[in-house]
Amino acid sequence: MLCNKCGGVLSVIRIEKVPKDKKYIDYERLCDVECLKCNKVFYSQPYDNGKRINMVRKITRKDT
Ligand SMILES: [Zn+2]
Repeated sequence: MLCNKCGGVLSVIRIEKVPKDKKYIDYERLCDVECLKCNKVFYSQPYDNGKRINMVRKITRKDT
């Protein structure tokens, strides 16, 4: 993700927690990101959406 103001790199500063009644895999979390260049903070950005390349499924003992 890049800052739409200055094109700087955005750093994730907070990630939404998955509600207990939602499945971790299915739930698309939101996150707050901060631009490392201009320090602008963008709230409620999609965190899981569009990150499929690096998606790692969390294996829990419940699933086995
Ligand atoms: Zn910026």
